[in-house]
Amino acid sequence: MEPILLKRSDHNVSRRNISSAAIKVLYRLKDEGYTAYIAGGGVRDLLLDRRPKDFDIATDATPEQLRKMFRNCRLIGRRFRLAHILFRGEIIETATFRAPVPENEGEHSDNIFRTGEDGQVMRDNVFGTPEQDALRRDFTINALFYNIANFSIIDYAGGLEDLKKKIIRVIGDPDTRFTEDPVRMIRAARFAGTLGFEIEPEAYDSICRNADKLALAAPSRMYEEVQKLFFCGHAKAVFHWLEKTDLLHPMFHDFSHWIDEDKTRHDWVIHTLEQMDRWRKAELRVHPALLFALIFGEYHEFLAKELVEAGTAPHDAAREAVHKHLQGMCGNVRVPKQAIYQVSDIMSNQLRFHKTKGRVPQRFLQHKGFPDAFLYFKLSAKAHHRNEELLTYWTDLRATGK
Ligand code: ATP
Ligand code: MG
Repeated sequence: MEPILLKRSDHNVSRRNISSAAIKVLYRLKDEGYTAYIAGGGVRDLLLDRRPKDFDIATDATPEQLRKMFRNCRLIGRRFRLAHILFRGEIIETATFRAPVPENEGEHSDNIFRTGEDGQVMRDNVFGTPEQDALRRDFTINALFYNIANFSIIDYAGGLEDLKKKIIRVIGDPDTRFTEDPVRMIRAARFAGTLGFEIEPEAYDSICRNADKLALAAPSRMYEEVQKLFFCGHAKAVFHWLEKTDLLHPMFHDFSHWIDEDKTRHDWVIHTLEQMDRWRKAELRVHPALLFALIFGEYHEFLAKELVEAGTAPHDAAREAVHKHLQGMCGNVRVPKQAIYQVSDIMSNQLRFHKTKGRVPQRFLQHKGFPDAFLYFKLSAKAHHRNEELLTYWTDLRATGK
């Protein structure tokens, strides 16, 4: 199929908005006679006048050729090798155009070899044409290329039209593509929320039909994607899409049922996400453990209360509640052990805010866990109009140190 080409005078993508490291890689490839495109999210964001998070490059140079061409290059991945070209403070991910996934083979299979009909082992032909590379991407708006040779935009999938219409449209049949890789469903919610786009009706219906398949996605990948969902700066809007499409239930099973039972629980989550978005806007970094403590805090407090009522000591109950929930979630989202410990520190430290006598407060103030615990304490005090006197006490103590 002939792609739609948009020449330089007909679009807004300027080399000034592309990182100098990416420009260096593109020109080096072009000067050596290779095709060199910016692909994926970088092109989408430039066309929308947004600042791209990073620039990924697609080329017809093979990984081996890339390794020889760039001194600062590392090859990663097994089945499909990618080149990471390292610059100070920036990594430019450069991939050779990919062919369609062979049938009966998962997207993320690590097999380098497979067996042919006559039993012979052969190497997968994983490299493809620019068109094949574009069409195996997830959404039309993520399949655009920017060609450094003539500064044109190349569109094989109708992404330019969908950018104009503000639509998230799956490339190919939504049921097939979401079954192939269920994580694409939460990516759809993320892009819709972040960009303020609508999910195209067929894709939307398909997500509602297939939401349960999210439980089949690899838990470690889910953890990565979940962080992206809540750190994207539009967490509230994304959450709205996750609820509407019913993706929240397979993602956070017990927790989502718990917030469904009571509107004030739901309001706390929304309140937290609004705060997350404000922090992002102010370019403050929130680490994953604090994010999880904030989002699930109410639920963890609820679980801890049940444990206390059953006779567990408060401090132990606070920790156990966190472990029980976050470890139990491992079936869907694998939260690393260290993050679970940090969340349980934040929650068990909440008890220390109630101790204001003697030297105890000073010691807590010097404790390395204080800043995160205090953030949680402050946010929950304000959201629920509780512990107001304590909040004043600790705010003053923190400001004056005495
Ligand atoms: P972000 O701005 O969040 O980085 P992005 O579109 O660049 O968004 P990435 O996860 O960085 O997203 O992936 C880069 C590109 O790789 C995407 O734009 C898309 O073309 C392709 N891609 C990523 N994940 C998938 C997937 N699960 N299925 C198909 N294509 C994918
Ligand atoms: Mg990206």
